[in-house]
Amino acid sequence: MKYLFKNALTVTMDQEMKVLKNIDVLVENDRIKALGSIKPEECENAVEIDCTKKILMPGLINGHTHVPMTLLRNYADDMNLQTWLFDYIFPAEDKLTGEDVYWGTMLGIMEMLATGTTCFIDMYFYMDHMAKAVEDSGIRAQLSRGMTSNEKGPDFSQNKSLNECIDFYLKWNGAADGRIMGAFAPHAIYTCSPEYIRAIRDAAEKYGAPIHIHLDETRVEHQDSLKNFGKTPAKHLYDLGVFDLKTIAAHCVWIDDEDIELLKEKDVTIAHNPGSNLKLASGIAPIPKVMDSGINIILGTDGASSNNNLDMFEEINLASLIHKGANLDPLLINAGEALKMATVNGGKALGREDLGVIKEGFKADLILIDVDKVHSKPLHNPVSALAYSIKGSDVCLAMVDGRILYENGEFKTIDKEKVLYNIEKICDRIF
Ligand SMILES: [Zn+2]
Repeated sequence: MKYLFKNALTVTMDQEMKVLKNIDVLVENDRIKALGSIKPEECENAVEIDCTKKILMPGLINGHTHVPMTLLRNYADDMNLQTWLFDYIFPAEDKLTGEDVYWGTMLGIMEMLATGTTCFIDMYFYMDHMAKAVEDSGIRAQLSRGMTSNEKGPDFSQNKSLNECIDFYLKWNGAADGRIMGAFAPHAIYTCSPEYIRAIRDAAEKYGAPIHIHLDETRVEHQDSLKNFGKTPAKHLYDLGVFDLKTIAAHCVWIDDEDIELLKEKDVTIAHNPGSNLKLASGIAPIPKVMDSGINIILGTDGASSNNNLDMFEEINLASLIHKGANLDPLLINAGEALKMATVNGGKALGREDLGVIKEGFKADLILIDVDKVHSKPLHNPVSALAYSIKGSDVCLAMVDGRILYENGEFKTIDKEKVLYNIEKICDRIF
């Protein structure tokens, strides 16, 4: 299948942040074949997409989320993380079935596609059902089974979650034409004993899997770590050898200067979740300092229960605003830097050098944004517009792997009515 995006105002998200006016971009099968001057014979049989008054850019990569938590959206709000998680979220999640997780994932995927996200990095449970939703919908994702246990071991060979995690990885990593990537996810240091984290880490190393973990999200987690282990959460994971594997660490709100050095030394990616951190009053991560260190930073919404949406344009906006305000410095985290966190940096975090940029040979994960809107005119600087004035709902097309999944309000692979019907049924049962 071939598509020709005609006359696109293209924000490439390459190293130089090139913005190309009125150019054509040719997609063939799952890849970007050419951009700029394309020979007419190359475009033969291509479906033309008129991009007048639209911005073409790489699809956004949601760097940390729990998509089935859409089911718990607007259910438990305005409380601290510990109460929210242990008194409301975990008990409600205990009632979920695999089927529920499938439909919750589908709801989240619809929201993500309609707001420009083409890939997400997730940690949850009933992962076979999540993977099925990813496979059915056509979106791209890194998926991992979140694991919690405070057992001391030493033998975790019979641990149910860890065995599920391994089985899931072997079954799904690289599945759905490579759209599904697997990872191992010890939930956090306050839900996993050191022995359990070590066992998960060793298993991940054995199978060549990367790690996805929550790190230093709240002051309570930070202080408890100092009390229980005599060191910061980051140093704790460093000493357990977790960071010797390719790692995405979500939040990192309370990390100190020494932690930043450790994370840099081990090339850990930090997933910044400004919306969730503000809503749960966890604090504001020291992202400008982290950026100065050269650490790879990606952007996530976290679950829809602590945000309460999966709109990455909101997150881009927040990431480019809160550090300016918190540090009284308007030069911090410019629009381009915030956009990189939501695109090309996500590709790097996944070890994928073919995601997050519009460039020949890269994956055709693309979005079109309608800028013929009152709130985005005049369009002096498209990069600024993307960070400061455009809304997720301005997205009018989302393509993954060269396949259009969403166009002008219509989902091509998902039966919207069926998803909404099932969500209502699930909520009637659980709440
Ligand atoms: Zn999370």
